[in-house]
Amino acid sequence: MKRLDTDVVVIGGGSTGLGVVRDAAMRGYRAVLVERVDLGQGTTGRFHGLLHSGGRYVVSDPGSATECAEENAILRRIQASAVEDTGGFFVTLADDDPAYADKFLEGAKATGVPATEISVKEALRREPRLDPRIQRAIEVADGSVDGWQLVWGAARSAEAHGAKVLTYHRVMKIERDGDRVAAVICRDEKGGEDVRITCTFVLNCAGPWAGQIAEMAGAEPVAVVPGRGIMIAMNHRLVNTVINRCVYPTDGDILVPVHTVSIIGTTDIHETDPDHLPIPRNEVQQMLDAGEAMIPGFRKARALHAWSGSRPLIKDQRVSVEDTRHMSRGMAVIDHSQTDGLKGMLTIGGGKLTTYRLMAEHIVDAMNRQLGEERPCTTADEVIPGSEDRKLYTVTHRLEDREKDRLDDQIICECELMNRSMFVRLLKEQPNATFDDLRRQLRLGMGPCQGGFCATRAAGLACSEQVDDAERASGLLRLFLKHRWIGIWPILYGQQVRQTALDHWIFAGTLDVEHLPQPEEEIVR
Ligand SMILES: Cc1cc2nc3c(=O)[nH]c(=O)nc-3n(C[C@H](O)[C@H](O)[C@H](O)COP(=O)(O)OP(=O)(O)OC[C@H]3O[C@@H](n4cnc5c(N)ncnc54)[C@H](O)[C@@H]3O)c2cc1C
Repeated sequence: MKRLDTDVVVIGGGSTGLGVVRDAAMRGYRAVLVERVDLGQGTTGRFHGLLHSGGRYVVSDPGSATECAEENAILRRIQASAVEDTGGFFVTLADDDPAYADKFLEGAKATGVPATEISVKEALRREPRLDPRIQRAIEVADGSVDGWQLVWGAARSAEAHGAKVLTYHRVMKIERDGDRVAAVICRDEKGGEDVRITCTFVLNCAGPWAGQIAEMAGAEPVAVVPGRGIMIAMNHRLVNTVINRCVYPTDGDILVPVHTVSIIGTTDIHETDPDHLPIPRNEVQQMLDAGEAMIPGFRKARALHAWSGSRPLIKDQRVSVEDTRHMSRGMAVIDHSQTDGLKGMLTIGGGKLTTYRLMAEHIVDAMNRQLGEERPCTTADEVIPGSEDRKLYTVTHRLEDREKDRLDDQIICECELMNRSMFVRLLKEQPNATFDDLRRQLRLGMGPCQGGFCATRAAGLACSEQVDDAERASGLLRLFLKHRWIGIWPILYGQQVRQTALDHWIFAGTLDVEHLPQPEEEIVR
């Protein structure tokens, strides 16, 4: 058996565990995080993607609302590369009670959540797919957040402060020495060897599995209640702003633009086993209906992928154990020295991904108190690796990166792998050439698309690089298409019909080729 020795073992590689290991390492503790699979494979990889402004909780859970608002601002500062500043709207749909928006604005003021009512006209101008019958719209500072970027960023930060992050290390046992935690035994799922990590403290951040971990240490079952929710990613960004229904939190009331898709969610059902989370068909239909209520035509978009995650909620005495929808989203630290007489172990539950840094601060503060240490938290001040330039993520950044190195020499014809420099060189050498003359040397438009994609690019280059004459360039294009057509129409059957229909859609639909400026003579010299 392999042996390690450390001050703190953090169990769970979700957002909470990564926040905690980073915090502990930054306060000078020797820390090891163990995760049974990969980072962010639990709830953190199965959430809705919303960086909460706090708006969602201004009426139902004011404490969580304030925490979200404050942490939202901190994450934008320290972890910008994981956050997209989409902004958010709370909208009152045609059948919703418009008076709730007044309660919302009052709650926002009381909880310090920035919120401003805007005109319906303005909301529809910015999000034209919204149901035009909306009655009211309130703007908030919602964003979208990439859970994986977030945990890997925190892992790199923790490692830079000396922590170890061990993935595929499943905790099998927690050993005690009398009334103290003494060691954590893990199975290295990839290497096959067991690892014994002796430690003075265990921080249990296993989310919905936290109860199982506590039991391994012989503690009373922890009151973590898994609240399952499903989400569906729709193709495209149907909206660019987070759209929330301005109602008391309910099912399917949020649509979040995340990277290139939009995610509708979610439901909230009490489950017993976080390893087996169903995606019931009725809930899928419920989500599609909920999307349709906000965005007419939503159901016509393609649903790409559905998944289910389980909130690690802390049992809330105000509601029944089945009623996870109305349980508080607030975080709680359970001190096992008080609940079970077990020293050196704390469990954390509840909270949100948005508040992961604050959750870590709370549990490490509690550990400090038990150890009699005074080591202040500094996680809100230090920028996480990868976010040094403090530039928030934008959905177009990959395209921008690609374009940067491709602008000089993009591929103009994918079928024949003809690039920009090849085309421009010949264009300059033969200023009177038609596209057909160039085609014969470069194979422009001779592949499967028969000019569908490359011809417009060639026309653009002819205009910008050679003649600076849109009329002549579009004349070259029209002539080229005419000549291509001569050899296409006699074989217009099967797959070729589909390709030609697509080409026609590109030329007639997006370029309106028939009405482009053209020289009087169609034959261009
Ligand atoms: C449907 C849904 C939608 C949500 N939407 C949002 C949202 O839009 N915005 C937001 O801020 N929050 C959202 N949340 C809440 C947020 O996702 C969670 O609060 C957060 O991800 C919890 O992280 P965690 O680290 O506590 O738990 P997890 O991410 O579940 O991490 C626990 C880890 O412990 C590991 N583990 C378990 N057993 C062992 C073992 N024996 N050994 C080692 N490791 C073990 C698991 O593999 C897991 O990776 C949503 C939650 C759900 C369920």
